[in-house]
Amino acid sequence: QLDNLGATTGMSTPLQTLTVAAATPYPIHIGAGLLDDGALLAQPLRGRHALIVSDANIAPLYADRVEAALRAARPELHIARHLIGAGEAEKTLANFSGVIDALAALGASRDGCVYALGGGVVGDLAGFAAACWMRGIDIVQLPTTLLSMVDSSVGGKTAVDIPQGKNLVGAFHIPRAVIADTATLRTLPPRELRAGLAEVIKYGAIVDAGFLHWLDAHHAALLTGDDAMLAEAIACSCQHKAAITARDPLEHGERALLNFGHTFGHAIEAEQGYAEGLNHGEAVAVGMLLAARLSAALGLASWTDAEALRALLLRFGLPVDVPAGLAPEALLARMRLDKKVQASGLRFILWDGAGAARIVADVDESAVLAVLRDAG
Ligand code: NAD
Ligand code: MG
Repeated sequence: QLDNLGATTGMSTPLQTLTVAAATPYPIHIGAGLLDDGALLAQPLRGRHALIVSDANIAPLYADRVEAALRAARPELHIARHLIGAGEAEKTLANFSGVIDALAALGASRDGCVYALGGGVVGDLAGFAAACWMRGIDIVQLPTTLLSMVDSSVGGKTAVDIPQGKNLVGAFHIPRAVIADTATLRTLPPRELRAGLAEVIKYGAIVDAGFLHWLDAHHAALLTGDDAMLAEAIACSCQHKAAITARDPLEHGERALLNFGHTFGHAIEAEQGYAEGLNHGEAVAVGMLLAARLSAALGLASWTDAEALRALLLRFGLPVDVPAGLAPEALLARMRLDKKVQASGLRFILWDGAGAARIVADVDESAVLAVLRDAG
């Protein structure tokens, strides 16, 4: 599924393209310098209106280049820009309205296109606005964080947050294309890069033991931002996410495997307050280890496997301990409230060791508590 198109583009890092099987298949392009490739950016365009949505950190770095490349490729385009503030607190219905207003001001027609230039916050917000404007116009994802390249830009989930919870208002809306310029990762704060690597490790843990070992062998190059290594890790992660979401687009089954580490992780994020403490990727790192230990306690993965995962996370500079001050009982209470908890009780993605995971309903709460108590 991976075509090496480097020779045709003249890019310094070979361009990789994979195609996601979906109702309307779409390409994911990965390579350094792609934001300057006007022909590639304009390829999915069907009409004459393009709205670039970005945030206050990313726009000063990359929006001029994207706009210039698009203009050069399509001089007749009507292009507008819409910026939001940076951070999760901006993924709101108010900012959704702002994007809608910008589309109205542009006079975007049904063949218009939204370009989401940024991390998962911009991608989710702009994607939801594109899903709603005239009942759905095209969205092209231009992810600039590792997390958005390997996770949020692929699969078609879009949403905003409301005070009652994260991602509670949204839609499934698959992109027309994903264009991941790995050179943008050079300006990403190192902590954000590591958070994205936690989700990369997740793919290895749940479905690809070989990838997990490859990550282990190349952790140093990945942490220093080596373009070719990162492109490889992104391509492999996207292939896994694409394959799983193609088989189960609406999360009726297998797609839930992507939540490995997330039940514990979400509880940690919610209990500490989203604005401080561990970020999402870090909470998922801790959550994966807790899920691995719970699996070992229940006789699935071995304790040796769990320990190996801990060592790997540590090599990637990721946290492995529950932050001090978070009570096991309080975390358990949060998990009971998790929107993924079904009538059948606590549901976890449990681990069978490198490359294999399963969905388990009705997990015994006392086993969960015991794992949390040991991790304090
Ligand atoms: P983010 O979008 O907030 O970006 C993180 C920070 O990095 C921001 O301050 C941003 O301005 C800055 N930044 C982004 N790219 C940069 C760059 N190249 N150089 C310098 N700074 C840069 O966070 P994120 O981690 O990308 O995404 C998190 C969001 O993604 C959450 O809202 C989460 O719910 C969502 N998400 C969605 C899905 C999905 O399937 N739709 C999956 C996973 C996560
Ligand atoms: Mg996640």
